[in-house]
Amino acid sequence: MSVQQEAVAGGEQLEVWIDQDLCTGDGICAQYAPEVFELDIDGLAYVKGPAEELLQDKGAATPVPLPLLTDVVDSAKECPGECIHVRRVSDRVEVYGPDAE
Ligand code: SF4
Repeated sequence: MSVQQEAVAGGEQLEVWIDQDLCTGDGICAQYAPEVFELDIDGLAYVKGPAEELLQDKGAATPVPLPLLTDVVDSAKECPGECIHVRRVSDRVEVYGPDAE
């Protein structure tokens, strides 16, 4: 079983963050999962907090709701900047994204 399958099968809480230094601003993530990602007026994508506010601190992460996992994972796979990181909350191991094994 891959680390991805283990995380999902185990009901692990996942969170996602964006490295804005690499974001190209194309908006693919905001199209796939607008509940989680949004472009700000600076042209870069940010994750949203519980009140739908954009989390603009460097490396800020937000929980991935299970119903949106597929959309978030697809965003990470399609992201041209390779800058969407999905990790386990428990040990911060990346399960989807450029640093996943
Ligand atoms: S898909 Fe990646 S590069 Fe494109 S806006 Fe979203 S985070 Fe930025």
